[in-house]
Amino acid sequence: MSLAADKAKEKLVRLGQKVAEAGLVIGTWGNLSYRVAKDNVVVITPSGLDYHRMSTRDMVVIGMDGRVVEGDRKPSTELALHLAVYRTRPDVQCVIHTHSPYAGAMAVNRMPIPPILEDAVAMIRGSVPVTEYAVSGSRRLAELAAQALGRVNAVLLANHGVVGVGRTPEDAFQVCQQVERAAQVYILARAIGTPVALTDQEVARLLEYYTKEYGQKEGAEG
Ligand code: 13P
Ligand code: ZN
Repeated sequence: MSLAADKAKEKLVRLGQKVAEAGLVIGTWGNLSYRVAKDNVVVITPSGLDYHRMSTRDMVVIGMDGRVVEGDRKPSTELALHLAVYRTRPDVQCVIHTHSPYAGAMAVNRMPIPPILEDAVAMIRGSVPVTEYAVSGSRRLAELAAQALGRVNAVLLANHGVVGVGRTPEDAFQVCQQVERAAQVYILARAIGTPVALTDQEVARLLEYYTKEYGQKEGAEG
């Protein structure tokens, strides 16, 4: 495999540990993938292995047609979902599927997470939709998730968990953290009062500001 694919494997191993340490998954649940556009392949975590026991040798390289290109392990059972997202979203380089608790509560109630917190909205790019129920690992779930995701960066899977995506692995990880935080704040806010969501116009203005003005200019970080 190419150097780029080897680097992707290393990134995924490290990111898997971060996702587990952040409490976004438990044990072997959840899964992560990284698109290596240059080679037209996706590197994905193996099915049912603990994040702290995974190494680069356990990663599976998959062609965009779903065939295994490299690796001895069985790929994640959510492979179809990851591929469906990459097919519909050329801007996405990393897909992370988590089972975090507050987002899980929203997914069980089949309630979308409204746009309530600025930083979460900036990363997610709107509210977080929720799919209909489909069993994990199914083609139906893959279709529903890719469809519901549309142009936003996260979706809730009914009675199951979260899918967060990003232009970089760091962005996808932050999206999953922001989904969990927004779900937690929403549930707390509902317990003490009536949460007020940002309007479509406010969300549009916020995204414009975040895209054009927030942070350092390109090349001026250091
Ligand atoms: P895998 O271990 O096969 O990746 O599946 C975990 C999961 O979260 C299924 O939805
Ligand atoms: Zn899952």
